[in-house]
Amino acid sequence: MDKYEILKKYFGYDTFRNAQEALIDNILEGKDTLGIMPTGAGKSLCYQIPALLMNGITLVVSPLISLMKDQVGSLNQAGIHAAFLNSSLTTNQYYKALGFARQGRYPIIYVAPERLVTEEFLDFALNSNIAMVAVDEAHCVSQWGQDFRPSYLKIVEFIKRLPKRPVVSAFTATATKEVRDDIIDILQLQNPMVMTTGFDRNNLYFGVMAVKDRYHAIKNYLEIHKKDSGIIYCLTRKHVEEVSGRLAEDGFSVAKYHAGLSDEERRKNQDDFIYDRTAVMVATNAFGMGIDKSNVRFVLHCGMPKNMESYYQEAGRAGRDGEPAECILYYSGQDVITNQFFIDNNQDNQELDDMTRILVQERDRERLRKMTFYCFTNECLRDYILRYFGEYGSNYCGNCQNCLTQFETVDVTDIVRAIVGCVQSSRQRYGVNVILDTVHGANTAKIRQYRMNENPHYGELAKIPIYRLRQVMNYLQLKELLSVTNDEYAVVKMTANSRQALESGEKIVMRMAKEQERTVREKEKKKKKNVFSGVELTEREQRLFEKLRALRTEIAREEQVPPYIVFSDKTLISMCKVKPQDKEKMLSVSGVGEYKYEKYGERFLKCVEEELS
Ligand code: ADP
Ligand code: ZN
Repeated sequence: MDKYEILKKYFGYDTFRNAQEALIDNILEGKDTLGIMPTGAGKSLCYQIPALLMNGITLVVSPLISLMKDQVGSLNQAGIHAAFLNSSLTTNQYYKALGFARQGRYPIIYVAPERLVTEEFLDFALNSNIAMVAVDEAHCVSQWGQDFRPSYLKIVEFIKRLPKRPVVSAFTATATKEVRDDIIDILQLQNPMVMTTGFDRNNLYFGVMAVKDRYHAIKNYLEIHKKDSGIIYCLTRKHVEEVSGRLAEDGFSVAKYHAGLSDEERRKNQDDFIYDRTAVMVATNAFGMGIDKSNVRFVLHCGMPKNMESYYQEAGRAGRDGEPAECILYYSGQDVITNQFFIDNNQDNQELDDMTRILVQERDRERLRKMTFYCFTNECLRDYILRYFGEYGSNYCGNCQNCLTQFETVDVTDIVRAIVGCVQSSRQRYGVNVILDTVHGANTAKIRQYRMNENPHYGELAKIPIYRLRQVMNYLQLKELLSVTNDEYAVVKMTANSRQALESGEKIVMRMAKEQERTVREKEKKKKKNVFSGVELTEREQRLFEKLRALRTEIAREEQVPPYIVFSDKTLISMCKVKPQDKEKMLSVSGVGEYKYEKYGERFLKCVEEELS
């Protein structure tokens, strides 16, 4: 068999994606390889297919038990013998698996890094033919990354003990140069081919909403997307409790996840979500690493994460199956303060010396600022993300909120003069709200107490709605015409550019969303009921989809694997479109391999036939 036949037979796919083929070829030529690909790009195939073609065993080092379980489950469903060796096995199970491994039963074995240099494992490895060591989530070797795992350092030690050096391949979704260099150095890759595929995930829609009542907005979103599976990230445990509690009261099927729950409860809730028993997971950032669920249709952020790295990683859990999915951030000014607090009180930094701690905090503040700007920008959001990660996007993607919103150019010179003038005349002592309330002419106790009602700019912009003023204020920060201090007081300050804005006679213009546009789009979205993950299904196909989905759940229960491992949503949707009537047609559906066909293909055929007759 060649790589194409394996792709079709076991995985049910017709073609490789961009970088996959090059990476696979390189490995098959016996060369070390580093693949840097975003989540959902299809890293696993890059080592799984060579593993099946190489003469010998491939060991896959993976950081998390859940990840291994998922991958091995997937392989077994596809008809490939694979096993994992980690602490979730009892001693008996472990020795049994190791025994099968010795007999050469598994071409692919997943192993936890801390197992590698144990006596039993070495005894097996030294007496077997290890063709490749594939390091998944390879950024875990780097102290620069967010997920450093000391046990990953054992990988090189292990490789050195082997009688013959195997091919070493490494895969990660982390892009920064420091991490990349670390992977090559620490794993001691030899003249590796480094392949980076673009970081763009073009099936993801990005949006940012600054709404008054976030809960309400999220509830609305869920109402429109009732059948979809999704994640809602909140900044704190308390907030997770609150949001999940209210959603449950309002009749939604939700699970929750944060570090304050018992191990058992976390596991149960995670399983409920993965097995599609609950549609929505409300969680802190503790939830996610190792979640391979491919049919997550949306990731909502009820609060802004601390930096773009975290945001893109979390949002990236949507749409791993390549189908359209949405990532929407519900932003509030309060988020900056919350994150500021996290930075100032980061326990991880307590052990650092003062100097380093200050540097780390400064870096974190800078990252937070870039994150905040993401929420303010009127430019293409995808472009903003890609530029952040050092790539050049085009400045129009056509699949983000800003690209899809009609903007108009508005002359904001007078507004800017009033706001900056107000900051200056009140001697740069107040925060955003006080400044905006002043120019807007609010008559509150606070304004009177600070005697801002006597400020020369008081009430100068009374006719302009406050949200517009807020937009201009954000814009001023983005363009560094004003800045806000990085402490809990968030005081608005002048910058080197402020005076110029006041004094030069130049006009200042800004792109602003046309109000009508946005509401029209939201309404249109509400109308499109039959669009299933972006593909339009007729009413009949929609009914078929529900039937197929129910059958998938039934089979998943029998096989004791998550439904998406049986078939992905994408595969079910193609089935609805193709409406296969025989084996050949069924095998032409993307994602239906021979082994899966043998196992349950006929049941799906029958389901299609019943629905269409
Ligand atoms: P990663 O590990 O890079 O996040 P996965 O390996 O989990 O991504 O793959 C993501 C999804 O893409 C999986 O559902 C996988 O089956 C699918 N996939 C991978 N390669 C292909 C391909 N060549 N054609 C179609 N689907 C693919
Ligand atoms: Zn865009």
